[in-house]
Order: sequence, then structure tokens, then C-alpha cells
Amino acid sequence: MISYLDLRGINEPFVGCAERAARSGWYLKGDYTRRFEQAYADYTGVRHCVGCGNGFDALALIFRAYVGMGVMGPGDEVIVPANTYIASILAVTDNGLVPVLVEPDADTLQIDDRRMEQAVTARTRAVLLVHLYGRCAYTPLIGDFCRRHRLRLVEDNAQAHGCRFEGRPTGSLGDAAGHSFYPTKNLGALGDAGAVTTDDAELARTVEALGNYGSSAKYVFDHAGRNSRMDEIQAAVLLEKLKYLDGWNRRRQEIADLYINKVENPFIRIPVSARPSVWHVFPVFCAQRDALQAYLRANGVETQVHYPIPPHRQRCYAAMNGLSLPVTERLHAEELSIPCHQLLTSDEVERIADLLNRFVP
Ligand SMILES: *Cc1c(COP(=O)(O)O)cnc(C)c1O
Repeated sequence: MISYLDLRGINEPFVGCAERAARSGWYLKGDYTRRFEQAYADYTGVRHCVGCGNGFDALALIFRAYVGMGVMGPGDEVIVPANTYIASILAVTDNGLVPVLVEPDADTLQIDDRRMEQAVTARTRAVLLVHLYGRCAYTPLIGDFCRRHRLRLVEDNAQAHGCRFEGRPTGSLGDAAGHSFYPTKNLGALGDAGAVTTDDAELARTVEALGNYGSSAKYVFDHAGRNSRMDEIQAAVLLEKLKYLDGWNRRRQEIADLYINKVENPFIRIPVSARPSVWHVFPVFCAQRDALQAYLRANGVETQVHYPIPPHRQRCYAAMNGLSLPVTERLHAEELSIPCHQLLTSDEVERIADLLNRFVP
């Protein structure tokens, strides 16, 4: 069986880092976290990085901080891609903000920058860009659009650590970015962890305080905050793993190139658009997606679906259930993620490509 992701294999070399942190006697807001925050800020090319508990909190704390800073308030609107992992949208609604869903482009798979203008109202305050599947969602048109309408540009960089747009890392392209280090991500911890990156010192200070009960100094509380901190064990592992991230992403690119060059089947569409990508997911699209998944499983290849039900069709968002978003619905119905990670051998990739070529619905 070729597994979708071999987390045990990926993490084995880093168990020693976790052990060292466990033996240090200091578990939160210590040296490893400070060092990781500095290293990740440098890596991302921004002034500030604040560790927090997970990727959802990173995004939710950015919006919470903007509300606290008076930049936006309950009822204000945030433009979001309709095709995303639901955490992106939950981070908006968690703060009483209103998500305005915009369809993706079927080729780039990212928010369609030509449709954003129609989504603007007097209450629009921000755009939340999601670099879905590890593919850069930013375009110069989106940058101009945000400047013209004076909107904050927030990036959901959970899936795109190390991706670059014209040399600039995702996570530094807007006003602030939320990062997830959930174990399956390109840069993954041994549990939950996340971070906010920004050049905005006030935002960084506010996020840091909000994630530590709203505390600005020991036992002094300026905000009604919550508890969302990166722990030292995760920081130690992430600090070490960061050194390997670019190499791992290069290997993902080689694997993606193999798939792109080898897979040729009229029933399977592969993502060829020229968006920069770190291939968090290698998605293929097939009208007979479930049959393709069963066929690959029967032939020893494990796959996943990202994601079977789009956010606007989830029961938690009943008010959006009636929206018609055909591009999103089709992508969610046809998407299948095939294995694409640094431990795959080229033989395995070729075997998967051969199987894809021989699929007949
Ligand atoms: C994983 C993910 C998140 C949430 O991160 P967690 O660390 O699991 O909270 C948010 N957005 C996207 C696009 C993700 O893939």
C-alpha cells in the first residue's frame, strides 16, 4: 500500500528535538518559542511572528485583533474564497464578521480575482486569501483591489509554507497571515501549533496579548483574551524542521512535475496553471471521482478528498446553504488528492501515474 502521507517516517528524525524540549523543564513562552518565532519571521520576510495554539486561532486572533483595534467591527464583511477548508471561514464568523463567498477560477483553483469587484459593499473591510493546496492565491490585481478599496489583506497560509510569489514568501504578501503547523502540513508539528506573521507591530502586540489571556504584562490584562500559545516541544521541532522545508518543497515539486509530465487521461484533469505552488496537495479532478478513488485503493494507493462538502453546503452555515456556487461545487465534487510528499520514491510516483493513465470509468 502506498499511503497518502507517512507521518511516522517524516517525524522519526525529529523525536530527539521533542525529547530535548521535554527535558528542559520549561514548556511555554520559552527559548524555543522565541527562537522559532524569530526564525520563521526571517524565513517569511516579515518583522513579527507570534506563535499560537493552531492555525484556526492564528486566523481568528488576527480578526479579533482588528476588531479590538477598531479596524473592523461585527457585521462588517470579509471576502473569502468559496472553495476552502472551513476553518478559514470559521475564523471570520467567530468574530461576528460576515463572510462573502467568491467563486474560484476552475483552472487556477484559487479565488477568481475578476469576480471580487462585484463582492464589494460599503461594509467590506478585508480579503482573506487562502493559498489552497499550497498554490499561491495572490495576484497583483488582488493587491491593487485591496489598496483601491482600502481593505486589509489577510492570508491563510496553512497550506503554503515556503511558497513564493516573485520571490516574496506567502505570509508576507498582505497585512497579516495565519499559519497552521498541524501535523499534515508542509511544515508540521507533532501536535497542534500555529503562528501569525505581520509587519504591523500593533497587530503583533495585540495578537500576542490576546493569545495570552489579553495580558500585556504579568497579571495585567488590557483585553479580554483567551489562551492560545505554542508550546516549547512544538517550537523545538518546528525550529529544526524549518531547516529542511525548502528541500522538502523542492522534492514535492519534482513529484508534481513527474505527475504533470506522465499523467495523460481524458477522464482526469490535472492542475497545470502556472501558479507558484509548494504542492501541499496534488489535486486531480475527475467526474467519476469516487470510482477513481476506489480503483486506486483496490490497486494499493491511498488518496484523500479535499474537501467533500463545500463550506456553504455545511449544516453549520444553514443561511448559506441556498447559495449557488457552481464552480466551487464542481471542484468539491471532482477533487481527489493523490500522494505527494517528500518520502515518496520516484518508483512509487511512476506507479501512481501509470495507474491513473490506465483508469477507465
Ligand atoms: C489546516 C488549515 C487550517 C486550520 O489549521 P489548524 O491548525 O488545523 O487549526 C486553516 N485553513 C486551512 C486552509 C487549512 O488547511
